[in-house]
Amino acid sequence: MEGEKFFESLGLAPWLIRSCKQLNFKNPSNIQYNTIPEIINGRDIIASAKTGSGKTASFAIPILNLLSEDPYGVFAVVLTPTRELAVQIAEQFSAIGAPMNVQVSTVIGGIDTVKQALILDKRPHIIVATPGRLASHLTNGLKIALKFCKFLVLDEADRLLGEDFELEIASILEYLPPPTQRQTLLFSATMTNNLKKLESISLNSPFIFEDNSKYDTVDTLKQEYIYMPAQAKDCYLVYLLKKHIGQSVIVFINNCYSVEAVKGMLNKLDIPAVSLHSFLDQKARLSALKVFKSGKVKVLIATDVASRGLDIPDVEMVINYKLSNSSKDYIHRVGRTARFGKSGRAISFITPHDVQLIKNIELVIKKELELYKTDDDEVFR
Ligand code: ADP
Ligand code: MG
Repeated sequence: MEGEKFFESLGLAPWLIRSCKQLNFKNPSNIQYNTIPEIINGRDIIASAKTGSGKTASFAIPILNLLSEDPYGVFAVVLTPTRELAVQIAEQFSAIGAPMNVQVSTVIGGIDTVKQALILDKRPHIIVATPGRLASHLTNGLKIALKFCKFLVLDEADRLLGEDFELEIASILEYLPPPTQRQTLLFSATMTNNLKKLESISLNSPFIFEDNSKYDTVDTLKQEYIYMPAQAKDCYLVYLLKKHIGQSVIVFINNCYSVEAVKGMLNKLDIPAVSLHSFLDQKARLSALKVFKSGKVKVLIATDVASRGLDIPDVEMVINYKLSNSSKDYIHRVGRTARFGKSGRAISFITPHDVQLIKNIELVIKKELELYKTDDDEVFR
């Protein structure tokens, strides 16, 4: 058992310690305990820790601590791969920074550009953005004074440093102060070890923190599989959702059309479900998430747009209706449950076609999935 850790020993302003307590953050998590003092001391950071270990507050708390000493202009730019995640991170900054009335703006796609410009007029201290929209604002001449910005944060850094975002991040970097005049903080549950990629972001002798081994899933998560022919998936899904009725469940499927088809089927069978994927407009995406978070609808069907970062504390089960080809995606998907010490369950549907995939996943997570067992024998015979 590790010794108890305290927010009081991290060099934080008293108002921030009070704010954390008010949010029911009793003790700092391991990653918070280790990275907060280093960030306050001015270091660049590469940090990885399991899903649900409190990485957001690991950067939000020290940034707010330093910001409150000198609240001037845009102090930090936080980049993240999905729009929903940007909204969630902004909410966490606003909650922790409420006592200092911190101004946080989100810059995300799918929202009217004119409205967005008005939001930025509010002189935010913190900008939380998806790279595409921020890059397009900057290159289209929208004036956001980032020259004196003190922090660049990449949340889900390995994803952001991948090919999909390369050009956008490069163009944002041109508008930021040089690496020697800002701190750069990288966080993820699955950090890349591709040093070339890290070079592009020009870290200054970073403090590297890895909590436990890489690519770990949490111990409070039960990981199971059911072996089945592909055409039996819908039967098993309906069976599981009926058996665990009332639980909050996320079902992952690889493409938008299949998500809608499964949602339609469930709704016809009187199993209310909402969907989240990139073919929906932004309003529909945020409202689906809101309805699911509130508990009004217990089933969310989603693509990998929901696999990273989303923090919905009451999710009890993740179902992989169709596995993703990437083991990393598996880790992030199942990490939507069993967060911050809670327990959870992940059930993966395995068809003969998926056997190699699941073997790869087991190698990466260094664990074997258990066979799903049920007392309803007749269903599985
Ligand atoms: P990660 O980014 O590591 O997956 P999050 O930052 O989303 O995790 O945090 C997971 C959950 O834990 C959130 O609901 C957050 O509010 C909560 N949390 C963070 N830090 C603490 C803490 N010190 N004590 C209690 N809860 C915390
Ligand atoms: Mg996170």
